Amino acid sequence: MQSYYEILNVESTSSKEEIKKQYKKLVRMYHPDVNSSPEAEEIFKNITRASEILLDDEKRKKYDLLRSANKKVNQKKYNNSSDYTFSDLFQKNKKTKEEPKAIQGEDITVSVTIDSKEAILGTTRTVNIATSILCPKCEGHKFANNQKCTYCEGKGEITKNKKITVKIPSSVKNKSKLRIKGEGKIGKFGGKNGNLYVIVNVEQKHEDFKIENGIVYYDAYISPYTAILGGNVKVPTLWGDATIKIPPLTKTNQSFKLIDVGIMNEKTQKKGDEIVKILIQIPTSITDEEFYLYEKLKEINLKKRNAPIFQ
Ligand SMILES: [Zn+2]
Repeated sequence: MQSYYEILNVESTSSKEEIKKQYKKLVRMYHPDVNSSPEAEEIFKNITRASEILLDDEKRKKYDLLRSANKKVNQKKYNNSSDYTFSDLFQKNKKTKEEPKAIQGEDITVSVTIDSKEAILGTTRTVNIATSILCPKCEGHKFANNQKCTYCEGKGEITKNKKITVKIPSSVKNKSKLRIKGEGKIGKFGGKNGNLYVIVNVEQKHEDFKIENGIVYYDAYISPYTAILGGNVKVPTLWGDATIKIPPLTKTNQSFKLIDVGIMNEKTQKKGDEIVKILIQIPTSITDEEFYLYEKLKEINLKKRNAPIFQ
């Protein structure tokens, strides 16, 4: 895409006089009266547009600001590194070296991933863990019949895969650490079993859901064009995506109620509401053509009203 400066073949530092001179030169080359080639028509349209912006001091100033803003957006580097802070709901027991009599079993930590709907409503996950149990042959003594136990190779314990179904409570927060007591590795010589810790990762897909007094709230960002012209807006609900028809001239902060897509009432088995608030999102960058058309829209608007009601 050529910038308006490139279209007129001038520098961004060129003076208004220089631009005007160059524009006149191009008009003489591409005006439909003198040039009937099909390409010339397009070129003439573009140089006319470019001159409308660059020969108007106010518009040129805004256009330059837009160009530097666009440049910043393009240069912006996205830093993907994120620091995870674990919210420890339970403090880990400090491991102290004790007499060999009683040794507490080691803790096991696993992580599970749930989506935001599950985080709100609660769910279950079955985890496979490699735990250890006392060797059934030597019963943890490592020796059987005065010989090294062959069943556990003298370790006194054997590894066993175990399935544990973990109940994840409702309203669980991302990175929560759940403790399932005694489901870690076995303790020895009378020591307690370790604990199983389950770190719950909540997928951030629907992070905008909010629940207050049993009602689901969601902020939907739409473009200025959809707000003005109306249209369909896809919004997530706890039970899948839904579409709302937005009427023309929808205002920012206007709310729409979706019924029967909210939280299920356990007693009545009926679903509640979701309130969708419409917020108009301004694009982070616009093209030259969009800039031109917004300027045009503004002009039309000012003419229509005689007084600048919308600034
Ligand atoms: Zn054994």
